[in-house]
Amino acid sequence: MRTLRTVAELRAALMPARQAGRTIGLVPTMGALHEGHLSLIRRAYQDCDDVVVSLFVNPAQFGPREDLSRYPRDEARDAALASEAGADLLFAPGLGEVYPDGFATSVTVAGVTETLEGERRGAEHFQGVATVVTKLLNMVAPDAAYFGQKDAQQLVVIRRLARDLDLPVRIEACPTVREPDGLAMSSRNAYLDPAERARAVALHRGLQAARTLALEGERDSARLAGAARAVMDAFGVDPEYLAVVDPETLAPLRTLDRPALAAVAAQIGRARLIDNLLLEPAHVSSNGRHPHPAIPRSAPPAPTLS
Ligand code: AMP
Repeated sequence: MRTLRTVAELRAALMPARQAGRTIGLVPTMGALHEGHLSLIRRAYQDCDDVVVSLFVNPAQFGPREDLSRYPRDEARDAALASEAGADLLFAPGLGEVYPDGFATSVTVAGVTETLEGERRGAEHFQGVATVVTKLLNMVAPDAAYFGQKDAQQLVVIRRLARDLDLPVRIEACPTVREPDGLAMSSRNAYLDPAERARAVALHRGLQAARTLALEGERDSARLAGAARAVMDAFGVDPEYLAVVDPETLAPLRTLDRPALAAVAAQIGRARLIDNLLLEPAHVSSNGRHPHPAIPRSAPPAPTLS
């Protein structure tokens, strides 16, 4: 695996593959690679002939009070892991290569950026993400680009921008990779001390409680969110937000009349963590009854057949 620093080198390196009609996959990362990132690289390796992993800690998506300066960086380790997982090229540009002097253009996605993470972190966050992802897609010109479901809103934003700007790329979503206790893997988990690490499982446990309740027949989003909050509360974790939303528009869903995304963010010690889980409504059979064990707790009795 070669490491490249400039767009010119990258394009030259990819030219033979492109001319030979080989497919190119891109996995954008900010480094500090873990099994979540590696699952994306392995998937790209399965799908594509050549795999580019980009490594760039993008200042434009960090707010002034966020963790840019202490974000974990270890390029040698990342290069070894990426190569082992199947990367052919590591694209690790410097700041000036991505944002040369006089840089003045940014990509703004309206609507889906305005809730959840966008609301908490400010409009600059997704503007930074959308701009750098657009640039990376233009630099690499891959057939497919791979993103984690862990950052569900980011995925929605990227799908939207690819569609709106007619970017000739397939956006592929990959499932969230978790620690054995359910904590979603994240570069930011490194900030947690042992006590905080033990509490961090609250995010996933809370979301799981909501999912279980949904499968039991509860359709009221406020009650589903309440169940998640109660679990998190027991761990002493107070979420920044805990929302049940439409997975594509991210608009709040009051009733679980279709699959929904439960999304959460919480500050635990120095780490700001996010997670999400798909909530599926209990199956309702054709006679209107919820099959066992999906018995609604507070819904009116199912109508009887006449
Ligand atoms: P990052 O380095 O945090 O910008 O993440 C790079 C890519 O890896 C993004 O598409 C993330 O959604 C994805 N990713 C991060 N953590 C996980 C995880 N636990 N499981 C799957 N994908 C992940």
